[in-house]
Amino acid sequence: MASTCPSCGFDKEIETKPLCMYCYYRGTVGAAKLLLFQTMRDNGNKYLTIDELTELVNKNPNRKEQITTSAVYKIIRRYSKYYDQAKRRRSSYLVLKKEIRRKKGQAGRPRIKYKLSMRLLKRLQYYEKRWKMGHPINKRVKNGKKFRMTQEYKKRAQGISIKLKKDEYDLYTYILV
Ligand SMILES: [Zn+2]
Repeated sequence: MASTCPSCGFDKEIETKPLCMYCYYRGTVGAAKLLLFQTMRDNGNKYLTIDELTELVNKNPNRKEQITTSAVYKIIRRYSKYYDQAKRRRSSYLVLKKEIRRKKGQAGRPRIKYKLSMRLLKRLQYYEKRWKMGHPINKRVKNGKKFRMTQEYKKRAQGISIKLKKDEYDLYTYILV
């Protein structure tokens, strides 16, 4: 008999893995993004550079592994890519961008700083709610399709939310495991 997944309480498909496949997926996909956005919000959502953001996210007590500068850059880029166009169109955007010019006489390109928009702050709450419910952070998978919550996954999600309600472990124990 396979042993139990500590996150959801159901069996693990692969004995040697720390979590079942569902909990592994949930703790991995979108997880760095969740931790990064939480860090930005909880530090007052000020305009910060990629380097400053990387340093801060690695101080987040909920993260387990090092989050690299390039990972932070990729997330921020995905959410700020169309910022300039959106601004021109006056439509809503997710990550706000600000260029800080170097002082006269200083070499180098302008530094770019980022912060979360109101819209993204709201979306972050939704991500957190999904996490608490035992669901994957992202509602959609990469190709835009909805993540299919099968009966099996629903059962596991419920297992997680019950364990969280009973305080059997901390909310972010099984993120990026
Ligand atoms: Zn599990």
